Amino acid sequence: MTRTLRVAVVGSGPAGIYAADALLKSDVAQDPGVSIDIFERMPAPFGLIRYGVAPDHPRIKGIITALHQVMDKPQIRLFGNVDYPNDLTLDELHQFYDAVIFATGANADRDLDIPGIELDGSYGAADFVFWYDGHPDVPRSWPLTAEKVAVLGVGNVALDVARILAKTADELLPTEIPANVHEGLRQNAAKEIHVFGRRGPAQAKFSPMELRELDHSPNIEVIVDPEDIDYDEGSIATRRGNKQADMVASTLENWAIRDAGTRPHRLYLHFFESPVEVLGEDGRVVGLRTERTELDGSGNVRGTGRFKEWDLQSVYRAVGYYSEELAKLPFDPDSGTVPHDAGRVEPGTYVTGWIKRGPVGLIGHTKGDANETVASLLSDHVAGELTPASRPEPEAVDAFLEERGVRFTTWEGWQRLDARERELGAAEGRERIKIVPREEMLDASGA
Ligand SMILES: Cc1cc2nc3c(=O)[nH]c(=O)nc-3n(C[C@H](O)[C@H](O)[C@H](O)COP(=O)(O)OP(=O)(O)OC[C@H]3O[C@@H](n4cnc5c(N)ncnc54)[C@H](O)[C@@H]3O)c2cc1C
Repeated sequence: MTRTLRVAVVGSGPAGIYAADALLKSDVAQDPGVSIDIFERMPAPFGLIRYGVAPDHPRIKGIITALHQVMDKPQIRLFGNVDYPNDLTLDELHQFYDAVIFATGANADRDLDIPGIELDGSYGAADFVFWYDGHPDVPRSWPLTAEKVAVLGVGNVALDVARILAKTADELLPTEIPANVHEGLRQNAAKEIHVFGRRGPAQAKFSPMELRELDHSPNIEVIVDPEDIDYDEGSIATRRGNKQADMVASTLENWAIRDAGTRPHRLYLHFFESPVEVLGEDGRVVGLRTERTELDGSGNVRGTGRFKEWDLQSVYRAVGYYSEELAKLPFDPDSGTVPHDAGRVEPGTYVTGWIKRGPVGLIGHTKGDANETVASLLSDHVAGELTPASRPEPEAVDAFLEERGVRFTTWEGWQRLDARERELGAAEGRERIKIVPREEMLDASGA
Protein backbone atom coordinates (compact mmCIF):
# COMPACT_ATOMS: atom_id res chain seq x y z
CA MET A 1 0.00 0.00 0.00
CA THR A 2 1.53 3.33 -0.97
CA ARG A 3 -1.18 5.68 0.29
CA THR A 4 -1.61 6.89 3.88
CA LEU A 5 -2.54 4.04 6.24
CA ARG A 6 -6.10 4.55 7.53
CA VAL A 7 -6.78 3.29 11.06
CA ALA A 8 -9.97 3.41 13.14
CA VAL A 9 -9.83 3.29 16.92
CA VAL A 10 -13.07 2.48 18.74
CA GLY A 11 -12.96 4.01 22.24
CA SER A 12 -11.26 7.24 23.29
CA GLY A 13 -10.05 6.17 26.74
CA PRO A 14 -6.34 6.23 27.49
CA ALA A 15 -5.77 2.92 25.66
CA GLY A 16 -7.26 4.23 22.40
CA ILE A 17 -5.41 7.53 22.56
CA TYR A 18 -2.09 5.87 23.43
CA ALA A 19 -2.61 3.56 20.43
CA ALA A 20 -3.06 6.61 18.19
CA ASP A 21 0.06 8.13 19.71
CA ALA A 22 2.08 4.95 19.09
CA LEU A 23 0.94 4.90 15.45
CA LEU A 24 1.99 8.53 14.99
CA LYS A 25 5.42 7.79 16.46
CA SER A 26 6.01 4.82 14.13
CA ASP A 27 8.03 4.81 10.89
CA VAL A 28 4.81 4.39 8.91
CA ALA A 29 3.73 7.84 10.12
CA GLN A 30 6.70 9.29 8.18
CA ASP A 31 6.24 7.24 5.06
CA PRO A 32 3.61 6.73 3.65
CA GLY A 33 1.81 8.45 6.56
CA VAL A 34 -1.00 7.39 8.83
CA SER A 35 -4.35 8.97 9.65
CA ILE A 36 -6.52 7.90 12.55
CA ASP A 37 -10.21 8.35 13.34
CA ILE A 38 -11.30 7.70 16.92
CA PHE A 39 -14.93 6.71 17.47
CA GLU A 40 -16.40 7.23 20.93
CA ARG A 41 -19.93 6.51 22.14
CA MET A 42 -19.86 9.36 24.66
CA PRO A 43 -20.05 12.99 23.52
CA ALA A 44 -16.78 13.56 25.44
CA PRO A 45 -13.49 11.68 25.15
CA PHE A 46 -11.14 10.16 27.78
CA GLY A 47 -13.14 7.12 28.96
CA LEU A 48 -12.74 6.25 32.61
CA ILE A 49 -10.47 9.22 33.22
CA ARG A 50 -13.64 11.29 32.92
CA TYR A 51 -16.18 8.67 34.10
CA GLY A 52 -14.20 6.47 36.51
CA VAL A 53 -11.38 8.36 38.23
CA ALA A 54 -12.79 9.96 41.38
CA PRO A 55 -13.46 13.72 41.33
CA ASP A 56 -11.16 14.28 44.32
CA HIS A 57 -8.21 12.97 42.27
CA PRO A 58 -7.48 16.03 40.15
CA ARG A 59 -3.84 15.03 39.70
CA ILE A 60 -4.93 11.84 37.89
CA LYS A 61 -7.58 13.70 35.90
CA GLY A 62 -4.65 15.92 34.85
CA ILE A 63 -3.39 13.07 32.61
CA ILE A 64 -6.01 14.44 30.23
CA THR A 65 -3.62 17.34 29.51
CA ALA A 66 -1.05 14.92 28.05
CA LEU A 67 -3.76 13.11 26.06
CA HIS A 68 -4.95 16.48 24.71
CA GLN A 69 -1.55 17.01 23.12
CA VAL A 70 -1.94 13.73 21.24
CA MET A 71 -5.50 14.53 20.17
CA ASP A 72 -4.39 17.97 18.92
CA LYS A 73 -2.32 16.30 16.17
CA PRO A 74 -3.76 16.96 12.71
CA GLN A 75 -3.63 13.27 11.73
CA ILE A 76 -6.25 12.40 14.37
CA ARG A 77 -9.99 13.06 14.20
CA LEU A 78 -12.55 12.37 16.92
CA PHE A 79 -16.08 11.20 16.19
CA GLY A 80 -17.93 11.39 19.52
CA ASN A 81 -21.45 10.17 20.24
CA VAL A 82 -20.87 7.30 17.80
CA ASP A 83 -21.63 3.84 19.13
CA TYR A 84 -20.23 0.56 17.82
CA PRO A 85 -22.02 -1.34 16.27
CA ASN A 86 -25.27 0.68 16.35
CA ASP A 87 -23.93 3.60 14.32
CA LEU A 88 -21.15 1.81 12.47
CA THR A 89 -20.65 -1.96 12.06
CA LEU A 90 -17.40 -3.88 11.72
CA ASP A 91 -17.97 -4.40 7.99
CA GLU A 92 -18.56 -0.68 7.56
CA LEU A 93 -15.43 0.16 9.54
CA HIS A 94 -13.42 -2.15 7.27
CA GLN A 95 -14.76 -0.33 4.22
CA PHE A 96 -13.26 2.93 5.49
CA TYR A 97 -10.13 1.69 7.25
CA ASP A 98 -7.23 -0.66 6.62
CA ALA A 99 -7.18 -1.62 10.29
CA VAL A 100 -9.50 -1.26 13.29
CA ILE A 101 -8.37 -1.18 16.93
CA PHE A 102 -10.96 -1.75 19.65
CA ALA A 103 -10.17 0.04 22.91
CA THR A 104 -13.60 -0.11 24.47
CA GLY A 105 -12.48 -0.71 28.06
CA ALA A 106 -14.91 -1.95 30.71
CA ASN A 107 -17.88 -0.10 32.11
CA ALA A 108 -20.05 -2.48 34.10
CA ASP A 109 -19.80 -4.33 37.41
CA ARG A 110 -18.73 -7.93 37.58
CA ASP A 111 -21.50 -10.00 39.20
CA LEU A 112 -21.24 -11.21 42.78
CA ASP A 113 -23.23 -14.36 43.19
CA ILE A 114 -24.47 -14.27 46.80
CA PRO A 115 -28.09 -14.39 48.02
CA GLY A 116 -29.69 -10.98 48.49
CA ILE A 117 -27.40 -9.14 46.07
CA GLU A 118 -30.48 -8.06 44.07
CA LEU A 119 -32.19 -6.34 47.05
CA ASP A 120 -33.05 -2.64 47.05
CA GLY A 121 -30.11 -0.81 48.57
CA SER A 122 -27.56 -3.19 47.00
CA TYR A 123 -25.55 -1.45 44.28
CA GLY A 124 -22.70 -2.02 41.88
CA ALA A 125 -19.76 0.33 42.35
CA ALA A 126 -19.64 1.12 38.61
CA ASP A 127 -23.15 2.60 38.67
CA PHE A 128 -22.38 4.74 41.72
CA VAL A 129 -19.09 5.87 40.16
CA PHE A 130 -20.94 6.85 36.95
CA TRP A 131 -23.42 8.83 39.08
CA TYR A 132 -20.83 10.83 41.04
CA ASP A 133 -18.74 11.34 37.91
CA GLY A 134 -21.74 12.83 36.07
CA HIS A 135 -22.30 10.12 33.41
CA PRO A 136 -25.28 11.08 31.23
CA ASP A 137 -26.79 7.59 31.01
CA VAL A 138 -27.49 6.95 34.73
CA PRO A 139 -30.26 8.48 36.88
CA ARG A 140 -29.55 11.99 38.18
CA SER A 141 -30.27 11.16 41.81
CA TRP A 142 -28.82 8.51 44.10
CA PRO A 143 -30.48 7.23 47.30
CA LEU A 144 -28.02 8.04 50.09
CA THR A 145 -30.27 7.39 53.08
CA ALA A 146 -28.23 4.59 54.71
CA GLU A 147 -26.35 5.45 57.92
CA LYS A 148 -24.31 2.27 57.82
CA VAL A 149 -22.95 1.08 54.51
CA ALA A 150 -20.91 -1.93 53.38
CA VAL A 151 -18.39 -1.83 50.54
CA LEU A 152 -17.37 -5.30 49.35
CA GLY A 153 -13.87 -5.56 47.91
CA VAL A 154 -10.38 -4.40 48.74
CA GLY A 155 -9.14 -2.70 45.59
CA ASN A 156 -8.82 0.96 44.62
CA VAL A 157 -12.42 1.20 43.36
CA ALA A 158 -13.64 0.06 46.80
CA LEU A 159 -11.49 2.80 48.33
CA ASP A 160 -12.92 5.42 45.94
CA VAL A 161 -16.50 4.41 46.76
CA ALA A 162 -15.84 4.29 50.52
CA ARG A 163 -14.03 7.65 50.48
CA ILE A 164 -16.72 9.44 48.47
CA LEU A 165 -19.39 8.02 50.81
CA ALA A 166 -17.40 9.08 53.89
CA LYS A 167 -16.43 12.60 52.81
CA THR A 168 -18.84 15.49 53.25
CA ALA A 169 -20.50 17.16 50.28
CA ASP A 170 -18.68 20.40 51.05
CA GLU A 171 -15.34 18.63 51.06
CA LEU A 172 -16.09 17.51 47.49
CA LEU A 173 -17.54 20.81 46.31
CA PRO A 174 -14.23 22.26 45.03
CA THR A 175 -13.98 19.33 42.59
CA GLU A 176 -15.69 19.06 39.19
CA ILE A 177 -18.83 17.32 40.56
CA PRO A 178 -22.01 18.49 38.89
CA ALA A 179 -24.72 20.31 40.86
CA ASN A 180 -27.02 17.26 41.08
CA VAL A 181 -24.19 15.23 42.63
CA HIS A 182 -23.36 17.89 45.19
CA GLU A 183 -27.04 18.11 46.10
CA GLY A 184 -27.29 14.30 46.37
CA LEU A 185 -24.19 14.12 48.57
CA ARG A 186 -25.63 16.83 50.87
CA GLN A 187 -28.41 14.34 51.70
CA ASN A 188 -25.90 11.54 52.40
CA ALA A 189 -26.72 10.02 55.82
CA ALA A 190 -23.70 7.69 55.96
CA LYS A 191 -21.87 7.77 59.31
CA GLU A 192 -20.20 4.36 59.18
CA ILE A 193 -18.63 2.73 56.16
CA HIS A 194 -17.47 -0.88 56.46
CA VAL A 195 -15.10 -2.20 53.79
CA PHE A 196 -14.86 -6.01 53.71
CA GLY A 197 -12.08 -8.20 52.34
CA ARG A 198 -12.11 -12.01 52.24
CA ARG A 199 -8.38 -12.23 52.68
CA GLY A 200 -5.79 -10.43 54.80
CA PRO A 201 -3.78 -7.19 54.76
CA ALA A 202 -1.01 -8.74 52.64
CA GLN A 203 -3.54 -9.70 49.94
CA ALA A 204 -5.33 -6.33 49.69
CA LYS A 205 -5.12 -4.81 46.20
CA PHE A 206 -5.00 -1.17 47.32
CA SER A 207 -2.32 1.16 45.99
CA PRO A 208 -0.31 2.45 48.97
CA MET A 209 -0.93 6.10 48.09
CA GLU A 210 -4.69 5.68 47.65
CA LEU A 211 -4.87 3.86 50.97
CA ARG A 212 -2.90 6.50 52.91
CA GLU A 213 -5.04 9.22 51.34
CA LEU A 214 -8.10 7.95 53.27
CA ASP A 215 -6.52 9.26 56.43
CA HIS A 216 -6.06 12.78 55.04
CA SER A 217 -9.72 13.77 55.28
CA PRO A 218 -10.63 15.74 58.40
CA ASN A 219 -13.98 13.93 58.37
CA ILE A 220 -12.84 10.29 58.12
CA GLU A 221 -11.64 8.18 61.04
CA VAL A 222 -10.01 5.08 59.55
CA ILE A 223 -10.25 2.07 61.87
CA VAL A 224 -8.53 -1.31 61.56
CA ASP A 225 -9.09 -4.09 64.11
CA PRO A 226 -5.77 -5.52 65.42
CA GLU A 227 -7.41 -8.97 65.20
CA ASP A 228 -7.45 -8.54 61.41
CA ILE A 229 -3.67 -8.27 61.12
CA ASP A 230 -2.40 -11.74 60.34
CA TYR A 231 0.17 -13.25 58.01
CA ASP A 232 1.17 -16.77 57.00
CA GLU A 233 4.17 -17.92 54.98
CA GLY A 234 2.44 -17.04 51.71
CA SER A 235 1.67 -13.54 53.01
CA ILE A 236 5.24 -13.02 54.18
CA ALA A 237 6.54 -14.10 50.77
CA THR A 238 4.10 -11.66 49.12
CA ARG A 239 5.34 -8.81 51.31
CA ARG A 240 8.98 -9.68 50.58
CA GLY A 241 8.43 -9.87 46.82
CA ASN A 242 6.06 -6.93 46.36
CA LYS A 243 6.99 -3.53 47.73
CA GLN A 244 3.49 -2.14 47.20
CA ALA A 245 1.85 -4.99 49.15
CA ASP A 246 4.39 -4.48 51.92
CA MET A 247 3.65 -0.74 52.14
CA VAL A 248 -0.10 -1.42 52.25
CA ALA A 249 0.32 -3.98 55.04
CA SER A 250 2.56 -1.59 57.04
CA THR A 251 0.01 1.22 56.77
CA LEU A 252 -2.77 -1.11 57.94
CA GLU A 253 -0.62 -2.29 60.88
CA ASN A 254 0.01 1.30 61.95
CA TRP A 255 -3.69 2.06 61.85
CA ALA A 256 -4.50 -1.08 63.84
CA ILE A 257 -2.32 -0.09 66.80
CA ARG A 258 -3.41 3.53 67.18
CA ASP A 259 -6.32 4.82 69.25
CA ALA A 260 -9.40 5.87 67.29
CA GLY A 261 -9.91 9.64 67.12
CA THR A 262 -13.07 11.70 66.95
CA ARG A 263 -13.52 12.50 63.25
CA PRO A 264 -17.25 12.31 62.51
CA HIS A 265 -17.37 9.54 59.88
CA ARG A 266 -15.95 6.15 60.74
CA LEU A 267 -14.47 4.03 57.97
CA TYR A 268 -13.69 0.46 59.04
CA LEU A 269 -11.37 -1.74 56.98
CA HIS A 270 -12.23 -5.36 57.81
CA PHE A 271 -10.14 -8.34 56.72
CA PHE A 272 -10.81 -12.10 56.83
CA GLU A 273 -14.57 -11.49 56.51
CA SER A 274 -16.10 -13.15 53.45
CA PRO A 275 -19.55 -11.78 52.50
CA VAL A 276 -21.94 -14.73 52.14
CA GLU A 277 -25.38 -13.09 52.10
CA VAL A 278 -26.97 -9.67 51.87
CA LEU A 279 -29.79 -9.70 54.42
CA GLY A 280 -33.15 -8.19 53.51
CA GLU A 281 -36.54 -7.31 54.88
CA ASP A 282 -39.45 -6.26 52.66
CA GLY A 283 -37.13 -6.35 49.68
CA ARG A 284 -34.61 -3.91 51.22
CA VAL A 285 -31.11 -4.40 52.57
CA VAL A 286 -30.98 -4.59 56.36
CA GLY A 287 -27.64 -6.26 56.86
CA LEU A 288 -24.80 -8.43 55.69
CA ARG A 289 -23.70 -11.90 56.82
CA THR A 290 -20.00 -12.68 56.62
CA GLU A 291 -18.01 -15.79 57.35
CA ARG A 292 -14.73 -15.42 59.20
CA THR A 293 -11.84 -16.82 57.17
CA GLU A 294 -8.29 -17.82 58.10
CA LEU A 295 -5.05 -18.15 56.20
CA ASP A 296 -4.12 -21.62 54.99
CA GLY A 297 -0.35 -21.15 54.81
CA SER A 298 -0.18 -20.26 51.11
CA GLY A 299 -1.74 -16.76 51.35
CA ASN A 300 -5.15 -18.15 50.46
CA VAL A 301 -7.97 -18.42 52.98
CA ARG A 302 -10.52 -21.01 54.05
CA GLY A 303 -13.81 -20.53 55.88
CA THR A 304 -13.92 -21.12 59.64
CA GLY A 305 -17.68 -21.76 59.90
CA ARG A 306 -18.01 -18.73 62.20
CA PHE A 307 -20.57 -16.23 60.89
CA LYS A 308 -21.35 -12.66 61.85
CA GLU A 309 -24.26 -10.39 60.97
CA TRP A 310 -23.70 -6.72 60.41
CA ASP A 311 -26.49 -4.24 60.77
CA LEU A 312 -26.33 -2.07 57.58
CA GLN A 313 -28.75 -0.43 55.17
CA SER A 314 -26.86 -0.54 51.93
CA VAL A 315 -24.21 -2.59 50.18
CA TYR A 316 -21.89 -1.59 47.34
CA ARG A 317 -20.02 -4.35 45.55
CA ALA A 318 -16.65 -3.29 44.19
CA VAL A 319 -15.48 -6.70 43.03
CA GLY A 320 -14.25 -5.69 39.60
CA TYR A 321 -15.37 -4.18 36.33
CA TYR A 322 -16.54 -6.22 33.34
CA SER A 323 -16.33 -5.45 29.62
CA GLU A 324 -19.22 -5.45 27.21
CA GLU A 325 -19.11 -8.13 24.52
CA LEU A 326 -18.39 -6.59 21.11
CA ALA A 327 -20.50 -7.61 18.11
CA LYS A 328 -18.60 -9.73 15.54
CA LEU A 329 -15.60 -10.21 17.83
CA PRO A 330 -14.81 -13.35 19.86
CA PHE A 331 -15.30 -13.01 23.63
CA ASP A 332 -14.14 -14.95 26.66
CA PRO A 333 -16.93 -14.59 29.25
CA ASP A 334 -14.73 -15.68 32.18
CA SER A 335 -12.14 -12.96 31.79
CA GLY A 336 -14.54 -10.59 30.01
CA THR A 337 -11.96 -9.94 27.30
CA VAL A 338 -11.48 -10.47 23.56
CA PRO A 339 -9.03 -13.34 22.87
CA HIS A 340 -6.02 -12.07 20.95
CA ASP A 341 -2.41 -12.70 20.07
CA ALA A 342 -0.29 -9.70 21.10
CA GLY A 343 -3.35 -7.49 20.47
CA ARG A 344 -4.22 -9.11 17.10
CA VAL A 345 -7.71 -10.64 16.88
CA GLU A 346 -7.03 -11.29 13.20
CA PRO A 347 -5.05 -9.27 10.66
CA GLY A 348 -6.90 -5.96 10.34
CA THR A 349 -8.71 -6.18 13.70
CA TYR A 350 -6.99 -5.50 17.04
CA VAL A 351 -7.70 -4.84 20.72
CA THR A 352 -5.96 -2.81 23.38
CA GLY A 353 -6.46 -1.65 26.99
CA TRP A 354 -8.94 -3.22 29.39
CA ILE A 355 -10.92 -5.03 26.67
CA LYS A 356 -7.63 -6.78 25.81
CA ARG A 357 -6.04 -7.29 29.24
CA GLY A 358 -9.01 -7.24 31.60
CA PRO A 359 -10.06 -4.54 34.06
CA VAL A 360 -6.94 -4.28 36.17
CA GLY A 361 -4.12 -1.78 36.33
CA LEU A 362 -3.64 1.93 36.14
CA ILE A 363 -3.90 4.36 33.24
CA GLY A 364 -0.13 4.13 32.65
CA HIS A 365 -0.39 0.39 32.01
CA THR A 366 -2.54 0.99 28.93
CA LYS A 367 0.50 2.55 27.21
CA GLY A 368 2.34 -0.79 27.14
CA ASP A 369 -0.84 -2.47 25.83
CA ALA A 370 -1.07 0.06 23.03
CA ASN A 371 2.58 -0.31 22.02
CA GLU A 372 2.26 -4.08 21.73
CA THR A 373 -0.98 -3.87 19.74
CA VAL A 374 0.36 -1.23 17.36
CA ALA A 375 3.51 -3.32 16.80
CA SER A 376 1.27 -6.25 15.71
CA LEU A 377 -0.74 -3.98 13.41
CA LEU A 378 2.39 -2.53 11.79
CA SER A 379 3.94 -5.94 11.30
CA ASP A 380 0.75 -7.08 9.51
CA HIS A 381 0.92 -3.93 7.41
CA VAL A 382 4.52 -4.55 6.42
CA ALA A 383 3.73 -8.23 5.69
CA GLY A 384 0.88 -7.16 3.39
CA GLU A 385 -1.69 -8.92 5.59
CA LEU A 386 -4.12 -5.99 5.80
CA THR A 387 -7.06 -5.83 3.40
CA PRO A 388 -6.97 -2.27 2.00
CA ALA A 389 -10.07 -0.17 2.69
CA SER A 390 -12.35 0.19 -0.31
CA ARG A 391 -13.32 3.80 0.62
CA PRO A 392 -10.22 5.29 2.26
CA GLU A 393 -11.08 8.97 1.66
CA PRO A 394 -11.60 10.67 5.08
CA GLU A 395 -14.64 12.64 3.83
CA ALA A 396 -16.45 9.36 3.15
CA VAL A 397 -16.79 8.77 6.91
CA ASP A 398 -18.41 12.14 7.66
CA ALA A 399 -20.76 11.69 4.75
CA PHE A 400 -21.68 8.18 5.89
CA LEU A 401 -22.47 9.25 9.48
CA GLU A 402 -24.44 12.27 8.29
CA GLU A 403 -26.45 10.13 5.94
CA ARG A 404 -27.16 7.72 8.78
CA GLY A 405 -28.39 10.64 10.90
CA VAL A 406 -25.74 10.28 13.63
CA ARG A 407 -25.31 13.50 15.60
CA PHE A 408 -21.56 13.19 16.06
CA THR A 409 -19.18 15.46 17.92
CA THR A 410 -15.63 16.34 16.90
CA TRP A 411 -12.36 17.31 18.62
CA GLU A 412 -13.23 20.97 18.11
CA GLY A 413 -16.65 20.18 19.61
CA TRP A 414 -14.99 18.70 22.68
CA GLN A 415 -12.91 21.86 23.03
CA ARG A 416 -16.13 23.90 23.03
CA LEU A 417 -17.71 21.62 25.65
CA ASP A 418 -14.50 21.74 27.71
CA ALA A 419 -14.48 25.55 27.55
CA ARG A 420 -18.15 25.68 28.59
CA GLU A 421 -17.53 23.39 31.61
CA ARG A 422 -14.57 25.52 32.66
CA GLU A 423 -16.68 28.67 32.30
CA LEU A 424 -19.37 27.15 34.54
CA GLY A 425 -16.67 26.29 37.08
CA ALA A 426 -15.01 29.72 36.94
CA ALA A 427 -18.32 31.39 37.84
CA GLU A 428 -18.12 29.54 41.17
CA GLY A 429 -14.36 29.73 41.67
CA ARG A 430 -13.92 26.08 40.65
CA GLU A 431 -11.82 24.60 37.84
CA ARG A 432 -14.75 22.91 36.09
CA ILE A 433 -18.33 21.84 36.60
CA LYS A 434 -19.33 18.89 34.47
CA ILE A 435 -22.32 19.03 32.17
CA VAL A 436 -24.34 15.83 32.60
CA PRO A 437 -27.30 15.50 30.16
CA ARG A 438 -26.26 14.10 26.78
CA GLU A 439 -28.34 16.65 24.87
CA GLU A 440 -26.68 19.53 26.74
CA MET A 441 -23.26 18.03 26.07
CA LEU A 442 -24.11 17.78 22.37
CA ASP A 443 -25.46 21.32 22.28
CA ALA A 444 -22.36 22.70 24.01
CA SER A 445 -20.20 20.77 21.50
CA GLY A 446 -22.12 22.25 18.60
CA ALA A 447 -22.75 18.70 17.31
C1 LIG B 1 -13.63 3.68 39.36
C2 LIG B 1 -12.25 3.69 38.74
C3 LIG B 1 -11.29 4.55 39.22
C4 LIG B 1 -10.01 4.55 38.65
N1 LIG B 1 -9.08 5.41 39.15
C5 LIG B 1 -7.83 5.40 38.64
C6 LIG B 1 -6.85 6.28 39.16
O1 LIG B 1 -7.09 7.04 40.10
N2 LIG B 1 -5.61 6.23 38.57
C7 LIG B 1 -5.31 5.39 37.52
O2 LIG B 1 -4.19 5.41 37.00
N3 LIG B 1 -6.25 4.56 37.01
C8 LIG B 1 -7.48 4.53 37.55
N4 LIG B 1 -8.41 3.67 37.06
C9 LIG B 1 -8.03 2.76 35.95
C10 LIG B 1 -8.14 3.43 34.59
O3 LIG B 1 -9.36 4.11 34.51
C11 LIG B 1 -8.02 2.36 33.48
O4 LIG B 1 -6.73 1.77 33.60
C12 LIG B 1 -8.15 2.92 32.07
O5 LIG B 1 -9.20 3.85 31.98
C13 LIG B 1 -8.42 1.79 31.06
O6 LIG B 1 -8.36 2.39 29.79
P1 LIG B 1 -9.15 1.89 28.48
O7 LIG B 1 -8.88 2.92 27.46
O8 LIG B 1 -8.84 0.47 28.24
O9 LIG B 1 -10.72 1.91 28.90
P2 LIG B 1 -11.72 3.10 29.20
O10 LIG B 1 -11.06 4.17 29.98
O11 LIG B 1 -12.91 2.43 29.77
O12 LIG B 1 -12.09 3.71 27.77
C14 LIG B 1 -12.92 3.00 26.87
C15 LIG B 1 -13.70 3.99 26.00
O13 LIG B 1 -14.39 3.27 25.00
C16 LIG B 1 -15.71 3.79 24.87
N5 LIG B 1 -16.58 2.73 24.35
C17 LIG B 1 -16.92 1.59 24.99
N6 LIG B 1 -17.71 0.85 24.21
C18 LIG B 1 -17.89 1.53 23.05
C19 LIG B 1 -18.64 1.28 21.86
N7 LIG B 1 -19.34 0.15 21.73
N8 LIG B 1 -18.61 2.18 20.87
C20 LIG B 1 -17.88 3.33 21.02
N9 LIG B 1 -17.16 3.63 22.12
C21 LIG B 1 -17.16 2.74 23.13
C22 LIG B 1 -16.07 4.19 26.28
O14 LIG B 1 -17.13 5.13 26.31
C23 LIG B 1 -14.75 4.77 26.79
O15 LIG B 1 -14.65 6.14 26.51
C24 LIG B 1 -9.71 3.66 37.60
C25 LIG B 1 -10.68 2.79 37.12
C26 LIG B 1 -11.94 2.80 37.69
C27 LIG B 1 -12.98 1.84 37.16
